[in-house]
Amino acid sequence: MTVLIAGAGIGGLTAALSLHAAGVEAAVVESAREIRPLGVGINLLPHAVRELIELGLGDELAAIGVATAENVYCDRSGRRIFTEPRGVAQGYRWPQYSVHRGELQRLLLAAVRERLGADAVRTGARVVGFDGSGARDRVRVRVLDRATGAVEDTYARALIGADGLHSAVRAALHPRGGPLLWSGIRMWRGATRAEPFLTGRSMVIVRDGDAELVAYPIGGGRINWVCQVRMSEPGPLTGEAAWNRAGRLADVLPYFADWRLGWLDVPGLLTGSGEILEYPMVDREPLPRWGSGRVTLLGDAAHPMYPVGANGASQAVVDARVLARELAPAEGVPAALARYETERREATAAVVRANRAMHRAGARTPEELARLTDTYRDTTGGDVRTLNARASLSCR
Ligand SMILES: Cc1cc2nc3c(=O)[nH]c(=O)nc-3n(C[C@H](O)[C@H](O)[C@H](O)COP(=O)(O)OP(=O)(O)OC[C@H]3O[C@@H](n4cnc5c(N)ncnc54)[C@H](O)[C@@H]3O)c2cc1C
Repeated sequence: MTVLIAGAGIGGLTAALSLHAAGVEAAVVESAREIRPLGVGINLLPHAVRELIELGLGDELAAIGVATAENVYCDRSGRRIFTEPRGVAQGYRWPQYSVHRGELQRLLLAAVRERLGADAVRTGARVVGFDGSGARDRVRVRVLDRATGAVEDTYARALIGADGLHSAVRAALHPRGGPLLWSGIRMWRGATRAEPFLTGRSMVIVRDGDAELVAYPIGGGRINWVCQVRMSEPGPLTGEAAWNRAGRLADVLPYFADWRLGWLDVPGLLTGSGEILEYPMVDREPLPRWGSGRVTLLGDAAHPMYPVGANGASQAVVDARVLARELAPAEGVPAALARYETERREATAAVVRANRAMHRAGARTPEELARLTDTYRDTTGGDVRTLNARASLSCR
């Protein structure tokens, strides 16, 4: 019997590859009828890149990613305030990569199909419920076939809810789990063909009052940009949060129309993007427990976080590797999932909290920014020496 993973996002696909590498049979069910290269830029921190390299994906990753060299904080006239080296330049043994999310997902999907088999990922199949109480050695998972509308039972050794921000597995485990929490910030995102800036591998972060721009190259001559504008005080989200919701240039451009960095044409970036996506910056309160018995959560389903510290996908990758290491022994699935949760739940809750602190901080002097970035690294498990010295999570 296989371990069934709900969701073929970054976390679910990495979990499938990690379980396979650990000798555990796995399969994925994905709600979308077709896996299309959705999203724009995403960052993989060295702790996640290490795991993907150890899964044998180093060359493929290097081919699609840009190895980030530095984060540059500056004002809206382009004056540099603080520079933080990143990845290998910071002393890590592994790079940080900026990639297109859709291209990363496609890379992982191809590897899953090649290694686990062409049928390892079933699309158009949504997990709608489960029942782990009947039998001791398996969980019954209810899967909706979106083409026929039929709901089938399938049995698995374990169910991993890697089904993202609106996780059905999480909702079933935590029916009173609380709402999405909005930071009060609206985010617009896009990717534009544009000339490289600074080192060509720099990420720039510019804040002016309630508006902030983050921009970085993602390969293929594209610059990924994220514009954030504070609209209200933090509180429960009343509207919808969807990663792929279309945004409008007219809503975002007025906040950035007169920004002149000199070496980066900000209005040109925004107007040149083929597609603009809009997303409210949301997270959820960390859970006191994730799973129960043979069911657990992974990635955004377990710990949705503000997309500000480059940790959303990175933490999902580490979750996947720890999960596989714990499930590798043939016996004792509930105990293995409990060990996984013990290792990952508090660690990822700390990242959720650090992302909140990071985005609320008013820091803007070089000293304040140095302190802020050091604290963020230390509280999110990114200490250079610790990561460089830590044993591999691979189990064979
Ligand atoms: C379409 C999309 C676009 C995104 N774009 C960006 C971006 O541009 N920048 C960024 O920083 N982050 C983006 N993200 C979020 C980012 O991918 C995650 O924060 C991070 O990678 C953690 O991944 P995850 O695997 O936990 O969740 P996700 O990557 O969100 O994957 C969850 C997967 O589960 C599937 N799913 C949902 N419900 C069910 C169900 N009941 N049964 C089976 N499958 C289900 C979803 O279709 C999805 O494929 C995007 C996510 C999505 C889904």
